[in-house]
Parts: sequence; C-alpha cells; structure tokens
Amino acid sequence: MSNKDEVRLIVDGKRLDGRAFDELRPIKIKVGVLKRADGSCYLEMGKNKVVVAVYGPREVHPRHLQDPVKAVVRYRYNMAPFSVEERKRPGPDRRSVEISKVSREALEAIVMKELFPRSGIDVFVEVLQADAGSRTACLNAASVALVDAGVPMKGMISSVAVAKVDGELVLDPMKEEDFYGEADMPFAFFIRNDRIESIALLQMDGRVTKDEFIKAVKMAKDGAMRIYKMQKEAIKSKYVVESEEEVD
Ligand code: UDP
Repeated sequence: MSNKDEVRLIVDGKRLDGRAFDELRPIKIKVGVLKRADGSCYLEMGKNKVVVAVYGPREVHPRHLQDPVKAVVRYRYNMAPFSVEERKRPGPDRRSVEISKVSREALEAIVMKELFPRSGIDVFVEVLQADAGSRTACLNAASVALVDAGVPMKGMISSVAVAKVDGELVLDPMKEEDFYGEADMPFAFFIRNDRIESIALLQMDGRVTKDEFIKAVKMAKDGAMRIYKMQKEAIKSKYVVESEEEVD
C-alpha cells in the first residue's frame, strides 16, 4: 500500500466499502461449533473470521496457579500464520500477549469467578482471517462461547472499535481505515439486563479531540448494543433448535 496521505478513505460521504459512518460490517455468529470444547463460537465480523473454544470451570494446572477464593480466567489470542496478508510467524508475540491480557481483563468483568474457587476457565481464541478489529471480533465470540459453556456470568461483553479517518469518526473500521486512519479506539462494554453497565476495555492509537472522544463513545455504545442483540439471537437460536429436537 502507498503513502498514508495519498489514500482517500471517504469518497462522496461514503466509506470505501460503501458503509455509512455509523454502520457495522456484516456479522455472522454460530454457537457450539466444536464438539470437544465445553463451549464454542465461530464469528465473522466483515472479513474477520474467528473461532473460540472455552474449557471449564475445571481444575487448574499447574496447581500453584490456583486461587483459593476464585476461578482463574485465562485467555489466549492466537493469529494463524495464514490469517493476514504477510504471513505471521507462528506463536506468541508482544501484540498477542497484550491483546490476551486486555481481553481477559474485559471478560473478568462478567465471569462470576467467586463461584469456582481453585478452578480455571480457559478461553482459546484462534484468528483464521484478520481484517482489523480482530480483538473486538474475538471478544464478541468469547462472550458467546462462555455462555455456551454454561459459565455463570453477570452479563455479556460486546465489543467494537471506532476510528477517525479523513477527519470523520467511523464505526467498526476495516483494514484500510485502521491502517491509513488518524486514530483507532477499540471498546468493549459490559452489558447487564439489556443495558450498558460499564466500559470493560478501551484502547487508543492516534489523537482525537475531547468532543470527538465523547462522540466516539456514543457511536461505540450504539454499535455494541446492535452486536449484543445479534449475540443473544445466536445463543437463542442454538438452544431453541436443540430443545425442539429433544421434544421429537
Ligand atoms: N495485522 C497483520 N499482521 C500482524 C498483525 C496485524 O496484517 O501481524 C493486521 C490484521 O488485519 C489486523 C490489523 O492489522 O486485524 C489490525 O491490527 P491491530 O493490532 O490493530 O489489532 P486488531 O485491530 O485486529 O484488533
């Protein structure tokens, strides 16, 4: 790709993929895709394709990692070498360690850890294809996979980024917007009883004004609520079908 200043990301009031500024990429969610995991989810958010497996609550190994009063949540974000344009070296790197840490902290806001002393809840996240916002796609999938695993939770996590491109704030940036934009802010919200309770993750690259930041939070909240509805629908559709099958 060429020089940042030469790339126009907004043409005739539309984004390069034709979306409005406050429009999400298409989202697909499938619950319970892996037989051997306690809970799982496959999710697409635009060109991002991710799969999450949840195990637990189960005994923690090595044992010295156990917490006598609550469960330990572990989150491993992994990018497949073939998931990006330029092959990624397999294995953990600084970026995946950072994403795993902030994502785990976001999920810790919802998991009722105190119910499972000495246990572990493991969340394995595989990015099969990435196109910016992969950490947000993974958190949305992880939240659904935790529900599928039957892990008791106080609510859900719904996550989306806002970027500033060509001076405009845009929801759920794709790769070109992330790469050439002026700012990128991934958000994750803790949603309880169908309303936003708090911000569980907020990161920021680049610069925005105070007014832009306030507007970005509002845009992200609106987007996250739409994602939350899709997460709920996906969970319902699995369990409604399963219970109908049981009746037959
Ligand atoms: N990316 C890449 N190679 C890498 C890491 C990232 O091509 O080793 C791409 C990938 O499409 C990713 C995007 O850059 O989604 C933005 O990465 P960032 O670190 O901002 O995280 P994300 O937006 O995916 O959460």
